[in-house]
Amino acid sequence: MKEKYINKNVVFDSCTGCGACYSICPVQAITMQEDQEGFLYPVINPDKCVNCHRCEKVCPVLLPPDQPGVPNALFSGYIMDEKYQKQCSSGGVFGRLADKIISNGGIVFGAVFNSGNKKVIHSSNLEYGMDKICRSKYVQSEAFHCYSDIKHLLTETNRKVLFCGCPCQVAGLKQFLGESYENLITIDFVCHGVPSPGVFRDFLAEEEKLEGKKVLDITFREKNAQGKGEEYLYLYLHQKKKEFRSLDHFYYYLFLHNCILRRSCMNCEYPVHHYSDLTLADDWEQNWVDDPLTGVSLIQTNTDIGSQCMREIFDEMEIRQIEMGSRAYIRMPHDYDYKDRNNAFKSYRKDKSLDGLKRFFKQVKFRNEMRKRIIHDLSVMRKRLLKIIAFKKVKTTYQ
Ligand SMILES: Cc1cc2nc3c(=O)[nH]c(=O)nc-3n(C[C@H](O)[C@H](O)[C@H](O)COP(=O)(O)OP(=O)(O)OC[C@H]3O[C@@H](n4cnc5c(N)ncnc54)[C@H](O)[C@@H]3O)c2cc1C
Ligand code: SF4
Ligand code: SF4
Ligand code: SF4
Repeated sequence: MKEKYINKNVVFDSCTGCGACYSICPVQAITMQEDQEGFLYPVINPDKCVNCHRCEKVCPVLLPPDQPGVPNALFSGYIMDEKYQKQCSSGGVFGRLADKIISNGGIVFGAVFNSGNKKVIHSSNLEYGMDKICRSKYVQSEAFHCYSDIKHLLTETNRKVLFCGCPCQVAGLKQFLGESYENLITIDFVCHGVPSPGVFRDFLAEEEKLEGKKVLDITFREKNAQGKGEEYLYLYLHQKKKEFRSLDHFYYYLFLHNCILRRSCMNCEYPVHHYSDLTLADDWEQNWVDDPLTGVSLIQTNTDIGSQCMREIFDEMEIRQIEMGSRAYIRMPHDYDYKDRNNAFKSYRKDKSLDGLKRFFKQVKFRNEMRKRIIHDLSVMRKRLLKIIAFKKVKTTYQ
């Protein structure tokens, strides 16, 4: 048996790992297999494949969904109920909408940390509480396991379904479904890119070995006084909580500096094409809420369903509508620097352990800090020089 990929270009350059192809295959000829960088890619078993080409037809990279949403309004705001500030990463809109759907008999699907296999997977509130589903997990999630369940719920019941995931996952779900449903609400977010699940798993396995305890939970965005102004990574082990400052930890640092992101994130088309009803982001530029512990979100409505969702929670929010284009939240791949990515994965593969990657992290961090210091020192020197020149000019004028 010679395994094959759906389409070489899709797989190597732009396959997002959404898994729509895997989920649609009628004969289970596709498996999602981990590559050397630790990301899942679809691989076809030709002995099983019946050449129906359905996998190609649902691939959002080969064939994007019909129409992206048309952004029609932008808001800056947060849910006033403190419960959602504690539970969510940003302004709590996802958490509040999810609770509303659940209390009306609907089902919510989002990303959940699974401590058993050290993965993030998409699951529903039927299996996990909202405290597990909320919050950003900075690792690629396996969203495709729930596509068939969502289709079943939408077609066989009248229940509302809310799905929240990366923009490429929303596109994958929409292609898999093949038609629009009035009882489906989709939320995505402004996406920096997703780090490698393989690196993430190795990091947790190493911690478990070191501590002799299981990692029960992990948070990347916890709002507390310590995290004021910067992010902390917290690991919850049995009877122990470990914390790491984001810029001191190899995994978080390499994520923030684009070194361990999926290849498709380097040419992602989704910053301007959202197939969701609502797009959420952190409003880092806001200047109307003083408390640094209050997460304020940007909320972009892309469809009538998205606008209706916002109308339903308006009274529960501190919120203001802002002009489209008044925030620089749309970041294209070319706005980021990926030059360290290949070397990062080379060092990950070389040692077949995290040692190489950790050494690489130290080098990159040292280089970046030196560069920052040199730029800072040069700017101080320039200012001093300008002052001296100005002083000399004044002196010669009065002599
Ligand atoms: C990988 C990643 C990168 C991001 N990059 C940016 C960015 O560059 N700029 C920006 O402004 N905002 C970014 N965000 C979004 C931001 O962190 C907040 O999630 C968003 O503002 C919504 O906040 P909230 O409080 O309403 O909901 P939250 O409590 O944050 O919940 C959001 C929902 O997102 C989904 N989610 C969480 N992790 C994942 C994951 N790994 N894969 C798929 N879905 C997931 C879950 O279903 C979760 O319930 C990113 C989020 C993720 C997960
Ligand atoms: S062509 Fe059809 S049978 Fe073959 S892998 Fe694709 S979906 Fe499966
Ligand atoms: S459907 Fe998704 S996982 Fe499959 S090839 Fe296309 S982008 Fe990759
Ligand atoms: S950056 Fe683009 S391709 Fe990468 S996870 Fe986000 S939406 Fe998907």
